[in-house]
Amino acid sequence: MNADTGHSQALDAKQTTGMMKHAISVRGVSKSFGSVEVLHNIDLDIEAGQVTCLIGPSGSGKSTLLRCMAFLEEATTGSILVNGQPLGYALDANGKRARLSADRIRESRSQIGMCFQQFNLWPHMTALGNVSEALKTVRKLPRGEAEERAMVQLKKVGLEGRAGHYPSQLSGGQQQRVAIARALALEPKIMLFDEPTSSLDPELTGEVLNVMRALAEDGMTMVVVSHEIGFAASVGSKIAFLDQGKLLLEGSPQSVFGKPRHPRLDQFLDTYLDRGAAMLV
Ligand code: ADP
Ligand code: MG
Repeated sequence: MNADTGHSQALDAKQTTGMMKHAISVRGVSKSFGSVEVLHNIDLDIEAGQVTCLIGPSGSGKSTLLRCMAFLEEATTGSILVNGQPLGYALDANGKRARLSADRIRESRSQIGMCFQQFNLWPHMTALGNVSEALKTVRKLPRGEAEERAMVQLKKVGLEGRAGHYPSQLSGGQQQRVAIARALALEPKIMLFDEPTSSLDPELTGEVLNVMRALAEDGMTMVVVSHEIGFAASVGSKIAFLDQGKLLLEGSPQSVFGKPRHPRLDQFLDTYLDRGAAMLV
């Protein structure tokens, strides 16, 4: 074996192992709505068992990127792999798209749980009903088993004592925790959060962030869009900063937030958040 071959084999092995670890790989993804391109050639890896925080100004494309990762939006170009498997469509040798079967799409999507800014709970169902519903209708579990599993998740988010409450009887923070339990009940491998605390009163954000922190400590793979810079800096393994549809910065909290800081990030921290936030990190 000559030195060159040895080198390339070592590289191949490294790349393969590296790829195995990526829960999601975003490769050259652009997204247009009509003639307007809102995501430009994004490459981003989401590591398994880690928390990746997406930050950036309003309109920078954070939600669109997250929705592409869940195949709620289809990227216009590029591709996304979930645990190494193409999401939604595969590219043939000529780069032409072929939509995957409904089964394969369902299989990839079932690995992904989502939690949005709006909790979207069913108002006519209790917390337990909200969490157990998909287990009954989608997973076809008998009611008893579905409710048992739902209780496990409600316990995880600290709401076992509220199982019989309707959304209107719960605070915003409690409702969001029910929404998290509902997503977790389907046992996703990856959780995507889109501004989960943005519609909450400030005193209620802590309880939701604590649930997310515990989930991260449990080893859940998470992608979190949030303006909670303290959370991003302390819980995030990776920070990705989107600006005008481009991934401008990506790295550890120390490397992204540390000084010298990219001027656009500095401006974002200073302008879009309260001025003190730039001092915090
Ligand atoms: P962010 O989440 O960072 O605030 P979005 O991903 O929601 O940003 O939006 C990025 C850009 O894409 C914005 O200019 C927004 O107006 C536009 N956009 C998002 N969704 C749609 C849509 N369904 N149709 C047309 N434009 C959209
Ligand atoms: Mg958004």
